[in-house]
Amino acid sequence: MSKRFAIIGAGMSGILTAIKLKERGITDFVIYEKASRLGGTWRDNTYPGLSCDVPSHVYAYSFELKPDWTHRFSPGAEIQGYFEGVAKKYDLDRHFRFDSEIERAEYRGGRWHLSIKGGAADSVDFVIAATGVLHHPATPDIPGLGDFKGACFHSARWDHSVALEGKRVGIIGTGSTAIQIVPALVDRVGQLVLFQRTAQWVLPLANPPYSADEHAMYRASPEALQQSYDFWSARFVDTFARAVIGDQDELHKIEAACRSNLEENVHDPELRRRLTPDYRAACKRLIMSDIFYPAVQKPNVTLVTDGIERIEAAGVRTKDGVLHELDVLVLATGFDGHAFLRPIDVIGEGGLRLADAWADANEAYRSVAVPGFPNFFMLVGPNSPIGNFSVILISELQLAYVLQLVDLVLQGRCHAVAPSKAATQRFNTALREAMKGTVWVTGCRSWYLDRNGNPALWPWSFDRFRTEMQAPDLVDFDLVARETTPQAAASG
Ligand code: NAP
Repeated sequence: MSKRFAIIGAGMSGILTAIKLKERGITDFVIYEKASRLGGTWRDNTYPGLSCDVPSHVYAYSFELKPDWTHRFSPGAEIQGYFEGVAKKYDLDRHFRFDSEIERAEYRGGRWHLSIKGGAADSVDFVIAATGVLHHPATPDIPGLGDFKGACFHSARWDHSVALEGKRVGIIGTGSTAIQIVPALVDRVGQLVLFQRTAQWVLPLANPPYSADEHAMYRASPEALQQSYDFWSARFVDTFARAVIGDQDELHKIEAACRSNLEENVHDPELRRRLTPDYRAACKRLIMSDIFYPAVQKPNVTLVTDGIERIEAAGVRTKDGVLHELDVLVLATGFDGHAFLRPIDVIGEGGLRLADAWADANEAYRSVAVPGFPNFFMLVGPNSPIGNFSVILISELQLAYVLQLVDLVLQGRCHAVAPSKAATQRFNTALREAMKGTVWVTGCRSWYLDRNGNPALWPWSFDRFRTEMQAPDLVDFDLVARETTPQAAASG
C-alpha cells in the first residue's frame, strides 16, 4: 500500500522535501502551511534592507544553483522569488494547502492523525516537520508597549502602509535585523533613534552587485557556478564554522577584523566606546555589514544606550528620564528560536506529548527525530548547525538522512522507526559536553541559548555533521515491526 506524507511548512525545507519526495516517485503528500503563501522566513520578513548574510551562491539548493543573483548577498524579495520559481519549476502547486495550520498531530494505530485549524483532518504515515526556527516574533516585555500612539510593529511584520519619510523612527534592538534596517532607513526618515541594549561586533563584509558579464558567465558555465558554490561553502567551513566551535586562531582573526572595523570606521571616540561590545566576537550571531557604521554616524541618528524604562504615548522613556519622542516604533527584537513546532500539539506513542518530552529542553536525536515519535522527522530541528553554515545545505543533508529512515518502512523492513531513548540521551550528553568548547557559552546573552543556558546549535565540525548525516546507524533506532490493525486505529 502506498504511504502518505504530510510536510508541515512551505518554507525552504518544506519545498525541498516535496522536490525530493517527487524525485523518488512519491506523489501522495501534502504541504500544510498556515500562511497564504510559500516562503517561510522570506515571506514573513519584508523589512527595508533585508538581505541574506550568507552568500547567494551558497544560499540556494545545491541542485538549483542560480546564475543571476543580483548581489553577493541578495535582497530578501529576490530570495522569496527564487523559492517561488523553484516550487513552480517542480510543479508543487497541487501539493500546497495554504491557510491550513496544523493544530494537532497524534500517532494512533500506527498512523499520524492531523487536525487542521478550521476543522479539516488528515491521516498520514509520515510527518516531516519543516517548520523552521525563527518564525515566532518575540515581543519585548517592556512596560507600556500598548500605550504608544504612533505606529508600532515587529520587524518581521513590517507595516508597509506606514509612511516613514521625514518621520521620527525608533528601532529597538541591534541584532542582524536592526543592523540591516538602519542603513536602509537612515536617508528616508527625519530622525532615527536606535535603542541598543547590547553592542555588537560587526564584520565588514561588502555586498557588491554581480555584473551582466558575470551573469552571462555563470549562465554559460554551470561548472563556474558550482565552483563559486564550493568556494563560498569552503570559506564558511574553514573559517567561521571552525572559529565558533573553538578554533582560537580563526576566532582571533574574526575578532581582529571586527575590532579594526570599529576603530577605523567609527570616528568619534565616545560613540566608538558605546559601540564596543564587552564579550567575544561570534558569541552572539556575528553581524556582517560594511554599511551599518557609516549609517549610525549620520547626523540624524541617535544611538541610545541608556536602558528603556517604559514606553509612553509619545515615545520611549529611558532610565535617565529622557523621553525620546517618536512617530513610529520598530521592534527589531528577534524571535523565540526555541519554539520549533510549538504550538502544534504533537502526541506520540502511548499519548506522549512532545510538550512534555521537551518540558526541560528540546532534545532530539541528531536534530531530526525524537524517541516515542515514530515516523516523525524534523528538518532544522534542535541543535542543527544553523549558526555555522548555510541552512539550506543543512536541510538537504538532514533530509537525505531522514529519507533513508523512511526507506526502511517503504521497503517493508519495519512499520515505523524512531530513535531509541538511550541513543538520544547519549547524543545529548555529548552535545552538552562539546558546547563547553564553543564561543557561544563565553558570556553573552543571545537567542542561541535556551533557558538552561545551552546553545541550540551544533558544537562540532561541519565534517562531523556531514558524516553523521551520511547514513543512519540502525543500532540507535527502534524499528517497530507490528502493523497496527485498522480496528486498533479506529478505537485508539
Ligand atoms: P536578535 O539577534 O535576537 O536581536 C534582537 C535584538 O533586540 C537584540 O539587540 C536584543 O538586545 C534586543 N532586544 C530584545 N528584547 C529587548 C528589550 N526588551 N529591550 C531592549 N532590547 C531588546 O534578533 P534579529 O536581529 O531579528 O536576528 C535574529 C536572527 O535572525 C539572527 O541572529 C539571524 O540568525 C537571523 N537573521 C539573519 C539575517 C541574515 O541576513 N541571514 C538577517 C536578519 C536576521 P540584546 O542583544 O541585549 O539581547
